[in-house]
Amino acid sequence: MIKELQLRLSPECAATDGLLRRAVASESAIDERSIHAMRILRRSIDARGRSVMVNLSLRVYINEEPQDEPFERTEYSDVSDKQSVIVVGAGPGGLFAALRLIELGLRPIVLERGKDVRSRKKDIARISREHIVDAESNYSFGEGGAGAYSDGKLFTRSKKRGNVQKILNVFCQHGASTDILIDAHPHIGTDRLPRVIENMRNTIISHGGEVHFQTRVTNLTVDGGKVVGVEAEDSSAQAEGGGVRSCTFSGPVILATGHSARDIYYMFARNRWAIEPKGIAVGVRLEHPSELIDKIQYHSREGRGRWLPAAEYAFVHQIGGRGVYSFCMCPGGFVVPAASGPEQVVVNGMSPSGRNSRWSNSGMVVEVRTEDVREESEYPVLKMMEFQQRLEKMAWQEGGRRQTAPAQRMADFVNGRLGSSLPVSSYAPGLVPSPLHFWLPDFISTRLREGFRVFGRRSHGFLTNEACLIGVETRTSAPCRILRNDDNLCHLDLEGLYPCGEGAGYAGGIVSAAIDGERCAEALANAVCVGSH
Ligand SMILES: Cc1cc2nc3c(=O)[nH]c(=O)nc-3n(C[C@H](O)[C@H](O)[C@H](O)COP(=O)(O)OP(=O)(O)OC[C@H]3O[C@@H](n4cnc5c(N)ncnc54)[C@H](O)[C@@H]3O)c2cc1C
Repeated sequence: MIKELQLRLSPECAATDGLLRRAVASESAIDERSIHAMRILRRSIDARGRSVMVNLSLRVYINEEPQDEPFERTEYSDVSDKQSVIVVGAGPGGLFAALRLIELGLRPIVLERGKDVRSRKKDIARISREHIVDAESNYSFGEGGAGAYSDGKLFTRSKKRGNVQKILNVFCQHGASTDILIDAHPHIGTDRLPRVIENMRNTIISHGGEVHFQTRVTNLTVDGGKVVGVEAEDSSAQAEGGGVRSCTFSGPVILATGHSARDIYYMFARNRWAIEPKGIAVGVRLEHPSELIDKIQYHSREGRGRWLPAAEYAFVHQIGGRGVYSFCMCPGGFVVPAASGPEQVVVNGMSPSGRNSRWSNSGMVVEVRTEDVREESEYPVLKMMEFQQRLEKMAWQEGGRRQTAPAQRMADFVNGRLGSSLPVSSYAPGLVPSPLHFWLPDFISTRLREGFRVFGRRSHGFLTNEACLIGVETRTSAPCRILRNDDNLCHLDLEGLYPCGEGAGYAGGIVSAAIDGERCAEALANAVCVGSH
């Protein structure tokens, strides 16, 4: 017999197999020995009351074994002899587009400017160690895209639950823990993501697709208003003394180049292909000792204890008509140097699967609308991007013209004071004391200061000099939208081009980029199918 039940348990009971079995047996009035297996279907932490509780939804197998797999498998067929489609970018948007194309009987050729996910790791380490940012291989560029060395949070506000489940199942099929199907706020962790990404690449190649690394798309090949391929530069032989090779690829194009591919935005602006500026959010990374956040969020002097994960938080408030909010919270994580080119300091956050570092961080950002920004620009459509660039350069200058980042204690920032010392931080390249309250644009620093006062009143202990602001957090979303038709997802001006994912302005985060990748693949397959009839 299979039985489903809901339980509300102490964290220890929820995390300990023996205690959980006993609770299930007692709730169902059955003998513990008749429980052959238990599968957790949903798990969430309720920290609202005095004692923290865990809500579990369970499937119990009584006197029988589970027959089904814990996740749903997608079948991929061989597409070696099928029509080719170019996918630019191997982030979540591009990878999920490629996998979906295979499902639909098309052959993806994935072109990625960065290196494979393992080689990329060395370049990322050099940013912290030697303060060298390789403009083609960094936290934004390379296999897995911006999401590869991240927290791997898979939480999305997308309402398309069906699609979300499909994405999570594909991650499981490629090696992610099935916990992501269960947890209310699932995450994979930066230590586990590379293997999952490699497995996805292997699926693409073993079913007849291609993946080319160190191949940067430099232009679209347009024939009579229709995109029929791309021009690219292949630098994969450079390490062995070879040069950069120009090459071309033919086929319709899914363009999933992410929010940091500024050369791609310039390409659209220069050619006057439809693109528009888009609102963004900018601010700082805020880092607390994780123990402090655990104590606040779990209302306990002991912090999280043995059975609870590092605590999360989320804040949002409207100040002066603009949202001020926490973004991409990384409990038990690290602040990382996420610049993608020279003369930039950009910060972001990541955590390992165990979320067990001594720090918890989140972006603390202010909504910036297009009317808030007046940049003098050759291309007015790129003004939001150029605003990001200006802030990143200021952070680089304030940080000492290296990857050391400008930083200020939180209460000092709110009180407009610059202390000389900074707390110990997870940010590996190092911090430099800097008056962020002074040099950040006034409409951002004023709102951030007010926001921190509000958040400090809501959560006693949150506004503290034990916490540190690290600048600047600018890459929260794309600064432009590459315009496409709502119905067929094709670019407004260019037939055969499918702007996709976060960089095109249609996603924000791993799961929504993956969903958009699938949608673009479906729209393209539909157009190919109609065209061939
Ligand atoms: C440090 C960090 C942590 C993050 N943490 C999370 C998180 O926990 N959860 C979450 O949901 N989101 C997180 N994000 C955001 C998330 O990674 C992005 O929303 C997501 O990766 C967007 O997917 P995408 O495929 O649209 O673009 P991207 O992931 O940016 O991928 C674009 C790819 O295109 C390639 N490319 C660019 N230009 C070219 C070109 N000309 N030719 C060939 N290739 C090109 C790039 O190299 C890149 O690999 C994080 C981001 C960072 C940087």
